Order: sequence, then C-alpha cells, then structure tokens
Amino acid sequence: MSTFQAPKGTYDLIPPRSATFLAVRDAISTPLRNSGYGYIETPGFENVELFSRGVGESTDIVTKEMYTLTTKGNDHLALRPEGTASVLRAALQANLHKQGNLPVKLWYSGSYYRYERAQAGRYRHFSQVGAEAIGAEDPALDAELIILADQAYRSLGLRNFRILLNSLGDKECRPVYREALQGFLRGLDLDEETLRRAEINPLRVLDDKRESVQKQLVGAPLLGDYLCDACKAYHEEVRALVTAAGVEFEDDGKLVRGLDYYTRTTFEFVHGGLGSQSAVGGGGRYDGLSEMIGGPALPSVGWALGVDRTVLALEAEGIELDLPAVTSVFAVAIGEEARRILFGKVTELRREGVSADFSFGGKGLKGAMKDANRSGARYRRWYWLGLNAGTLFGVGFCTWLMYQSLYEINSLCLWC
Ligand code: AMP
Repeated sequence: MSTFQAPKGTYDLIPPRSATFLAVRDAISTPLRNSGYGYIETPGFENVELFSRGVGESTDIVTKEMYTLTTKGNDHLALRPEGTASVLRAALQANLHKQGNLPVKLWYSGSYYRYERAQAGRYRHFSQVGAEAIGAEDPALDAELIILADQAYRSLGLRNFRILLNSLGDKECRPVYREALQGFLRGLDLDEETLRRAEINPLRVLDDKRESVQKQLVGAPLLGDYLCDACKAYHEEVRALVTAAGVEFEDDGKLVRGLDYYTRTTFEFVHGGLGSQSAVGGGGRYDGLSEMIGGPALPSVGWALGVDRTVLALEAEGIELDLPAVTSVFAVAIGEEARRILFGKVTELRREGVSADFSFGGKGLKGAMKDANRSGARYRRWYWLGLNAGTLFGVGFCTWLMYQSLYEINSLCLWC
C-alpha cells in the first residue's frame, strides 16, 4: 500500500523551512503587538451564514470556495475562508465594543481554507496573520495599519513589493457609481456568468484577471470620480498620513478585492517576484460589516497578510532570515554513567533557558556525532575530558565552560 499524501492544494511544513514560517509570523505580529493590538483566536469553523452574510453571497469565496459541512446535530458550518468576519463576530459576542475603549485592536494568526484551483502560491489550506481595528472611523487608523504592514515586510528584508491603494466610497456614493458601472458593463461583450456578476456585484468585474475582459474595461468609469466629499476628504487624509510616514504607495482606481464588505480605504501589497499570485497581503475598511452580521454600527479597518506567499516572496528575493541556531548545546556521552549524568545536565540547562539536545537511541560515537552535526550547531567547540569524565567534577566543569562560552559562540558540542 502506498503511503498517504497531503490532500491536493495543501502541503506540510517541515524543518528547516518551517522555522522561516514561524519567523515570518513573528515578524508580522511584532509591529502589531508593539502598537496596542491584543491577540485573539477564534474557532477554525463558523456557521456558514456568518460568511455568506459577511463576506458576500456573490463572492467567489462564498459561492465556490467554502468548505461546508453539516454536522450530525444538523449545524451548517464552514471552515473559515478568512479571518475578519470571525474576529468581528467574536468581538461582538464578548461585548468588547461596549467597554468604552474603541477602537478595539486585535491581531490573529491561523489557517484558512478555500477550495481554489491549486497552483504555486495558491493553496486550499494557507496561513495568514491579520489585524483588525474595530469601532472607529479615523483615517489615522487606516494609515496605521498600512504603515505596520509595510514595517513588517521591511523588517523581513523584503523590498520588491508595492502598495496599491484605493477608496471604494461609502453607502452614499458607491450606489451611484455602481449604477454607472453597470450601465457601462451592459454594453460590453461578456460571457453569461460575467454579465450575471455585473448585475449582482459589478465592482467585482473590475477585478477579473482575464485579458479579454480587462481590454474591454479600458474607459470604464472609475470610483475615484464618483467619491462623495466626505469619502474624498477621508481618502486624502489617509494618503497624507501614509506619505508623511515615508511609506510609498500607488493609487489604483481599479483595486476592489474579492470580499464584499470593504468600504472606503482598500489596499493590497503585491510582490514583484511571485508571478500571477502576486498579492502577499491586503485589507481595508469595512464600516458596514458589523451591521451585516447583526451587530451595531462599528466602522472598522483591518488587513490579512499571507504567510505562505510572504515566505515565497523571501525566497524570490533570495533573503535568508538570520534565524538563531535551534540548538546551542549538543551533548554526547560515552558510557552509561556519563550518559545518565549528562542527561541530567541537559535537563538543567534547558530549565535555565539554554537550548540543549542529547544524543538519543543508544547510538555509537559515530552516529551520535552525526546527530551533533545535524543539531544546527553553526560553531563548535570540543571539550575533551577523557573517557572517564563521567565524574561530577568533569561534568560540572564542562557545564561551567558552556555558560562561559554561550555569550561568545552560538553553539557548542559537549562530549564527555
Ligand atoms: P484575502 O483574505 O483574499 O484578502 O487574502 C489576503 C492574503 O492571504 C493574500 O494576499 C494572500 O497572501 C493570502 N491568500 C489568500 N488566499 C490564498 C490562497 N488560496 N493560498 C495562499 N495564500 C492565500
């Protein structure tokens, strides 16, 4: 019988590459933790309706890509395809918005599921780190999130990315634009499905990646020309604040993104080395979402950055993160008595916070040394204490030497 493989569109994260994923999650969340965002974790599945109402009935995510299931108790659930709706649901459920401290700023990290056509950079199970600032309408908050994402990418050493920025207007001006766009789209030579989409959600047609559609969209009315004064002023303030922070961006009048809940500010981070799946992260303002899922009016803004694609972006730029050696001390004992004592010393070192490992499995010296090599030790020092050095004095001296050396060298191999 052949061994099982990971399901289509998924992959396993294994060492050493998995260490980069952890470092990326850490790098993305550090600026958030530094800026008043508290950590939130929600279940991997929710009631289907949360997403159909929140993300939008006509979006690809809801119509084609959700993993849905009916439980034995007849609950209709979906594996979460994105984080915002769940985080807002959780914040409302816990009444975080009633505690007089708006905006509620939250960050999260987790796995998301979309039944997509699998290809490089597009998976059915992927990982995001996200941030949501709930309950305040303040251009500084939109700017803060854009600046923090930029800071996260830069802290990883990424440079080959661009920030695209747009405003989608609000419930005053967007309907007027929507109608103008619909009128334009009806005159085009589009397939049936696209025409249907034009009727339900015409803005999504702007996002169509097919060249045959894009060609016809030249000359389409742009939302920027339809923004009401309040939306225009808001957008100008976001742009001014991001510019003042020294963060470069490009205005992209056609940026709409694939989720229905966005209003006003929308942005996307695209990387130059990733081919067709170039979006490494994106987000925007979603002032109406809370009401759409049964809550009070809570204007909010957030983003989600894709961890998988950020790792691919690092690889595309040839960036190797400066990851600390996994193991500082690797202990190889010769003889049963030395082994017992050394195991105790390794335990002690670990309790002191020194990363230490041990040669397991009753190996001979050669095998144990191979383990030591594989342990990630970058620099090695050897301490020869003689074969009879299973004495407490010998091991104690050795440990002392290790402590002395730890500040100078990344790793050492202990052999007694
Ligand atoms: P979205 O939730 O669609 O706004 O996506 C935010 C980010 O998540 C994207 O910019 C990608 O980096 C990542 N992402 C979304 N869908 C996938 C996927 N199917 N595979 C890998 N990454 C994804």
